[in-house]
Amino acid sequence: MRLEWSEQQCLERVRKSRWPDGRRCPRCSHADWRLHAQGDNGRPKYRCRRCDRTFNDLTGTVFAHSHLSLGKWFECARALKQGPKTCVQLSRLLSVKVATAWRLRKSLRRAFCDPSLDRLFKEVG
Ligand SMILES: [Zn+2]
Repeated sequence: MRLEWSEQQCLERVRKSRWPDGRRCPRCSHADWRLHAQGDNGRPKYRCRRCDRTFNDLTGTVFAHSHLSLGKWFECARALKQGPKTCVQLSRLLSVKVATAWRLRKSLRRAFCDPSLDRLFKEVG
């Protein structure tokens, strides 16, 4: 079952799940930030006005630093929520290597316990 969200919509859903009342600095929780740059990956970067660190909507989440699209992550999450899957099943379903499927599944199991992502995973289905 394919995910019907674009990458932009995926990113929006992560943001809304983490920060339902508006984006905050993941390091100091300050709500005052400014747009810093448009990342090469199409994800805007922000700079916190209190601690001066830069961040994006994925900083500090399991999705940060991943080369996979958010769509793949969420498709995997959806499959796992529908029932246990072997790495081989997941790799076929997502068209990724078995080792990648193994890493995805391991990371997602941890992410399912992250309360800031509850809303997101409910929406994933
Ligand atoms: Zn900060």
